[in-house]
Amino acid sequence: MTRVFSGIQPTGHLTLGNYLGAMRRWAEVDQHRAESLFCVVDLHALTMDHDPARVRRLSRQTATLLLAAGLDPDVCTVFLQSHVDEHTRLSYLLECVATDGEMRRMIQYKEKAAKERDRGGSVRLSLLTYPVLMAADILAYGTDEVPVGEDQAQHVELTRDLAVRFNQRYGQAFVVPRATIPRVAARVMNLQDPARKMGKSDDSGTGVVYLLDEPDVVRKKVLRAVTDSGRDVVYDRAERPGLANLLDILAACTGGNPESLADVYDSYGSLKRDTAEAVVEVLRPVQARHRELCADPAYVEGVLRDGAEKARALARPTVDTAYRAIGLLPPV
Ligand code: ATP
Ligand code: MG
Repeated sequence: MTRVFSGIQPTGHLTLGNYLGAMRRWAEVDQHRAESLFCVVDLHALTMDHDPARVRRLSRQTATLLLAAGLDPDVCTVFLQSHVDEHTRLSYLLECVATDGEMRRMIQYKEKAAKERDRGGSVRLSLLTYPVLMAADILAYGTDEVPVGEDQAQHVELTRDLAVRFNQRYGQAFVVPRATIPRVAARVMNLQDPARKMGKSDDSGTGVVYLLDEPDVVRKKVLRAVTDSGRDVVYDRAERPGLANLLDILAACTGGNPESLADVYDSYGSLKRDTAEAVVEVLRPVQARHRELCADPAYVEGVLRDGAEKARALARPTVDTAYRAIGLLPPV
């Protein structure tokens, strides 16, 4: 059976981008057709300046929202990265096949390092090695497919390179995975700055729709979205990125396609109103389920405990194989 792995960082409140680009597919498609693991990658949340209490809070909230979005612990495995030591064990081995140059070429590293420097902070070494830990997350499970948004395609490509290199040098240890990117809404853009991806650790609240935003807040944010000059509604990501973003969001929420939707509208106003309502409707059931789950934290904890146990059992043989292959003696 196909094995699927994907993760999400507890670095902020989850966004519409996280939902449309990743989580919704995990819940609606992947968990039903593949043996799937979904992980709150909390160690990755320590790669930028962080507040420990906030990371704890967001880890719980992120796990709860994954379940609220429809992940079913009876058919998939939901767990926290830090509960399964195999990720960090494997990460070190992969650091021994990855190169410094490869890490420095990663777009996310360049962007996040610049952001940290702009804030007057220093860049953590773990931010540089982040893609190696991500590769370990994926390779530890013999993953075939990694459903992610477009922004993570480069990291999955690196994961493939590391798997192939390790296998060639030290013998077959890893399945070589591939990214699966959604057809629409692979890269939801910030509503106030459509040149920038909508990200949960962004500071600008008004350009980012959060999964837990009240309907009126969602409406306000979508209605105030920056659009491009021009009056006609056309789908052109390069020339009209603000408009294209709204059409992408509407298409992803209603199951349509952005080009044909452009033909339906003759004003920005009606497009924005319909997009706002479509987003509100998509978020409604997730928010309702989230409220129920918040009333039962012991259930969420139980899911994470069982998930970590299952994940450990799956990862250990692969990671042990890699330890032997690279030249380490088994413990006596
Ligand atoms: P951060 O700003 O801390 O990096 P993020 O919003 O980018 O947070 P991640 O935890 O890094 O979220 O990514 C989780 C998943 O969501 C990944 O599969 C990523 O590709 C996807 N994703 C993130 N932002 C978007 C977006 N704007 N559009 C589509 N997919 C997205
Ligand atoms: Mg990200």
